[in-house]
Amino acid sequence: MALLPVTTHDQLIRSKARENSLCPQIWALLDTVTDPEIPVISIWDLGVLQDVIEQASRVEVVITPTYSGCPAMREIEQDICKTLKRAGYSHVEVTTRLSPAWSTDWMSKQGKQQLMDFGIAPPTPTWQVRKVICPQCASTDNSLISEFGSTACKALYKCNDCLEAFDYFKCI
Ligand SMILES: [Zn+2]
Repeated sequence: MALLPVTTHDQLIRSKARENSLCPQIWALLDTVTDPEIPVISIWDLGVLQDVIEQASRVEVVITPTYSGCPAMREIEQDICKTLKRAGYSHVEVTTRLSPAWSTDWMSKQGKQQLMDFGIAPPTPTWQVRKVICPQCASTDNSLISEFGSTACKALYKCNDCLEAFDYFKCI
């Protein structure tokens, strides 16, 4: 069905890199770290988690912030450290990678589905015409109310079918 979230090429590359990692157990632990603003979505599914490098007793976690200045990043960093330390990794370092810039194309298909279930319209792949799907009724007949929704990274829409207002996760 055309209205369901799709897997982008970027996501496929990201998944391959994760599959080839030498420390799958650390990636699995980090799947419990979520975005404080959207607690249903993990930093992996959000496309924030880039790499995990384990060297002797030291673990380096590489993340890319979503929208610049997103206040959630500090909290995410602390959650990563807390989660790994609780699992026995005592030397954890979080590195922020700013280039290439985060893109909504890095969000996993599952993450987009979780956004919809949470009541937020997921971002359209950047190469597609913006098609906003109402998370309540899946209609694409809707109108933009405001470029800024509950946070700067979301826009506010109103569905012309079910008349519900909802947030759309802007694609970048
Ligand atoms: Zn609707």
